Amino acid sequence: MASLDIGVNMAEISLSVEGRGGESLRNHYNQAMRKDKLVEWIKEMMHHSFVLGNSVESYITTMEYIEELVREHREWTDSSRALRRKTSRLKTLVPTVDVFHTELHLKDAFTKYNNKYAITSRKHVPPTFNEIRHVLNLSQLLAIGDDLKFISFDGDQTLYSDGGNFEEKSGLSYQIIELIKAGVIICVITAANYFHDGPKYEVRLQGLLRRFIKAGLSEEEINRFYIVGGECNWLLQAHKRENDEGKLVARIEGVEHEVWQADEYDAPKPSKWPQEEIDRVLDIAEASFNNSRQEMRLRARILRKPTSVGIIPGGAKMIQEVPQGHGNEKLKSEALDEVVLRAIDELNNMEHSVSFPYCAFNGGRDAWVDIGSKGVAVEALQAYFAIEKKSCVHIGDQFLKTGNDISARATCNTVWIESPKETFKILDHVLGISLGLDKMERAATEAKLDDDEQSPRGSPRNTPAGRMNVYTGEFEPVK
Ligand SMILES: [Mg+2]
Repeated sequence: MASLDIGVNMAEISLSVEGRGGESLRNHYNQAMRKDKLVEWIKEMMHHSFVLGNSVESYITTMEYIEELVREHREWTDSSRALRRKTSRLKTLVPTVDVFHTELHLKDAFTKYNNKYAITSRKHVPPTFNEIRHVLNLSQLLAIGDDLKFISFDGDQTLYSDGGNFEEKSGLSYQIIELIKAGVIICVITAANYFHDGPKYEVRLQGLLRRFIKAGLSEEEINRFYIVGGECNWLLQAHKRENDEGKLVARIEGVEHEVWQADEYDAPKPSKWPQEEIDRVLDIAEASFNNSRQEMRLRARILRKPTSVGIIPGGAKMIQEVPQGHGNEKLKSEALDEVVLRAIDELNNMEHSVSFPYCAFNGGRDAWVDIGSKGVAVEALQAYFAIEKKSCVHIGDQFLKTGNDISARATCNTVWIESPKETFKILDHVLGISLGLDKMERAATEAKLDDDEQSPRGSPRNTPAGRMNVYTGEFEPVK
């Protein structure tokens, strides 16, 4: 079934009203695209408590009520019971809610959050969008508890900054190592697409891979680390190998499509999607990006890959080509949103539907239309590893309607962060809640790994031979 997998009701995105001759009469800015309706609704509910004296009991009662609505909604979405009632109370209040794969422990999460940040003691500032996002994240982790078996991470802006690499000093590495040692499967699910070319992903993740070796992880443990590139199109796995100098290193190597997309698994198989349909989607997206580039005078380049098409900052040479324009270093987020919404509009009106999901998203510095989605990746891996939805969580930063993490909500639990720093906080909770490590143990692990760090800063072996262009995967010489 054709589906534009960005978690948005396409009827909401009405970009223009056309006149009889097809000319555009009016433009509409869809404000909803920048909002999450569940968070907004909870915020509104909490404002009642704030206005009515800010008592802790009032918030707790509200949280218990929402917990109950989520429980009832889960019963309603359970297909065996769906026929009994037309809709759930929660769906009536927040029409965009879809599925919850666990209950949410909102009362406990709010209590924990309030104990630390004392939000109910404030007199002038009610709970904000971000605070509610944090409480929802915590309530999700508490609900998963020690049932956790699989964590997928977005790459850019979740594990490292947009377009950056995983730094060896990143505190996230020791947390990921603890999870791997505890038997949790870790997978980076990224739009970055270098096919089965492991060394290119090794450049992005070099800091983490070096830590795997320093921490003395076994081959079996290192094997629990995976990467899915191009949203859902290429699976790779980490291995412990000897390099030419006889030293142990962690390498990233491709997993054949026939293995993880084997017939026996009841899950989507991206490698079998029809090429002519893929081409049709990418042709429309590429034409749309080209129009956007011209009309908005973007100093941008269009990049076409087998399963994606992107628009990226064009570099200094584009200044000459588009003298009165912008975006050679960084494309404005407003321009990227416009580019994405135009592409969505074109794809939404495509003449023949296609048999697989695709996603159009603002990647922070670039915009892409990708074949498949992160939701597909999670679903395929759940079948491959035989893990239930309730035991999986995807952590990412793009959960608005022009983002590419939002599609994971259909297939697993999700945690919405805004930066690698927030990912660190979340994983600290995960180590406490799911692995039962106390604060001292968590701190000790981090300190131990820092002691192991022998190489001085800027050591030559920490410096890559060339800089890799993160968009194309091409190596550029260091100047
Ligand atoms: Mg991201």
